[in-house]
Amino acid sequence: MGSRKLAKYRAKRDFTKTAEPSGAVDVAPAEHLRYVIQKHAARRLHYDLRLELGGVFKSWAVTRGPSLDPTDKRLAVEVEDHPLEYGDFEGTIPKGQYGGGTVQLWDRGYWAPEGMSAEAGLAKGDLKFTLEGERLHGSWVLVRIKNDRTGGKRTNWLLIKHRDQWAREDGATEAMMAEDRSGASARSMAEIAAGTGRAPAPFITAAGDPVPGAAAVWDSHTGLVPGAVPQVEAPPSPRPAPGG
Ligand code: MN
Repeated sequence: MGSRKLAKYRAKRDFTKTAEPSGAVDVAPAEHLRYVIQKHAARRLHYDLRLELGGVFKSWAVTRGPSLDPTDKRLAVEVEDHPLEYGDFEGTIPKGQYGGGTVQLWDRGYWAPEGMSAEAGLAKGDLKFTLEGERLHGSWVLVRIKNDRTGGKRTNWLLIKHRDQWAREDGATEAMMAEDRSGASARSMAEIAAGTGRAPAPFITAAGDPVPGAAAVWDSHTGLVPGAVPQVEAPPSPRPAPGG
């Protein structure tokens, strides 16, 4: 699936050297669109936001990671589409290979565009969407910005939290970023780099549910269907802490 879309992804990588997936496996579609965020200690630490669309992950490297503060806009550099299998990847890309460094499954769950189709939002450069994941929730937007620094080589966006019950301006973002633990394996970056601890529980390549009951929570938000404007409600039930 998405083999033409993955040409760039494959051209950048030598699959005899990196353990990253080549995208050869057909991933079964899920009831809801999936997303993952991978903490990636490459030359510079960043957080890769990946939104499932059209059989691949549309991807952005968010340099400082997402912020829960709506006044704190975060640069999100558009990168090549990634295979859906990538959403279960946690490990270390060897030095010298593209993106060399440790990758941690930092957040994952479901997403839906708000107000218009995801394709239309991306084309417009204004993609409003809702996340229901382990760490992130509620309404967000990706806004495409003019690119004067890199001479048009990169397409830059801003990732911004919308004001809703999940928005926070009180240091909650810093606390969230300080918690160094994989949602999929409970491992720290150091443990992943050392290759110790348990393997990540699959979400994309098996019928896993990253947040117990998340799909049911999602369904209970009647507005949370692709193309609809979500009616954000109070969370219906407490959920375990990430990695718990
Ligand atoms: Mn990356």
